[in-house]
Amino acid sequence: MYADRINSLPPYLFATIDAAKTKIVAKGVDVIDLGVGDPDQPTPVHVVESMCDAVRDPKTHSYPSYTGMFEFREAAANWCKTSKGIDIDPASETLTMIGSKEGVAHIPLAFINPGDVALIPDPAYPVYKIGTQFAGGVPHIMPLLEENNFLPDLDAIPGDVAAKAKLMFLNYPNNPTSATAGLKFFEEVVDFARENDVVVVHDNAYCEMVFDGYKAPSFLNVDGAMDVGIELYSLSKTYNMTGWRLAFAVGNRDIISGAGKVKSNIDSGAFDAIQIAGITALSSSQQCVADINTIYAGRRDALLKGLNAIGLDVKPPKATFYIWAPVPAGYDSMGFSKFLLEDVGIVATPGVGFGDYGEGYIRFALTQSVGRINEAVERMEKLKI
Ligand SMILES: *Cc1c(COP(=O)(O)O)cnc(C)c1O
Repeated sequence: MYADRINSLPPYLFATIDAAKTKIVAKGVDVIDLGVGDPDQPTPVHVVESMCDAVRDPKTHSYPSYTGMFEFREAAANWCKTSKGIDIDPASETLTMIGSKEGVAHIPLAFINPGDVALIPDPAYPVYKIGTQFAGGVPHIMPLLEENNFLPDLDAIPGDVAAKAKLMFLNYPNNPTSATAGLKFFEEVVDFARENDVVVVHDNAYCEMVFDGYKAPSFLNVDGAMDVGIELYSLSKTYNMTGWRLAFAVGNRDIISGAGKVKSNIDSGAFDAIQIAGITALSSSQQCVADINTIYAGRRDALLKGLNAIGLDVKPPKATFYIWAPVPAGYDSMGFSKFLLEDVGIVATPGVGFGDYGEGYIRFALTQSVGRINEAVERMEKLKI
């Protein structure tokens, strides 16, 4: 019944973990869920209020514009200027997206012919690879190794692969490793993309989720990046808006236009009332973002203290709400996450779910209160893992 592209999909990891969790909860275990990367805090009130007003206005009830409401794109471009120092034309270099997942999944359709190569990091957000495969492309895996600070080694990409490559996905600050990238790395990416005619898509979903004074750069801060790439910005994690489905792409106008052509044939744009709420989020005081980050920093410190106490060596990440920890000796990532769930009542995501190079690691999402995280840590200490 199903097409090959569906039949060849691996089981969706989070669905599998959810089923295992449901079974344990049914046994009466008080499960602490540090699995899915979905903020537990509500969307800031001023954003919710803005949506309520907007949804009452019948002008928002019709089909939205394909490229997105101009005012939203303008707010996005202004935000880019203020927070990243990049100059973006809202008319031609900005595109509203129904979440960056939508963008990632559809962009390969604009640039990949069957058999073309896309360069995909591993471990990574699974949609880069699957979006490529849905478009008939061939993923070439770029391993993210701890010894390289979880950055891909561009020199390790064979020449014939680079020649066939049309697209490269990157994501820093990174899910799942929480690694960050500096401008020097982005410069290397621009050189590589120019030499090999590769479209770069930088998924910057976590650029505002930063700690200890760290500021995540934009890929577009580098000279020449506007010639080769685009950047995806999501409101999901920054403003606790995962359910709203709102993101935007900025960068090279031809790439933006290609992505827009695909989208206009598939969806009919993001609900205007949601874009109006997005304008409020992007244009108001960013104090709510700082407050959210303070909460995550406290949770990060609580979990790290516990993990270090049980002998798992993890350094405090400068960004993202993930802790990427090596699993203890004697376990693989699936085995350790199974043990955590069944014997300790903790959900964490096995690294191998993000690709083969995630083996040997486990990802904790900081989506529970400090109290619950301390409880998780106490349970782990009691078992002397
Ligand atoms: C959460 C996440 C997204 C999804 O963002 P949406 O805008 O909600 O679709 C995209 N990329 C990465 C790396 C993520 O972790």
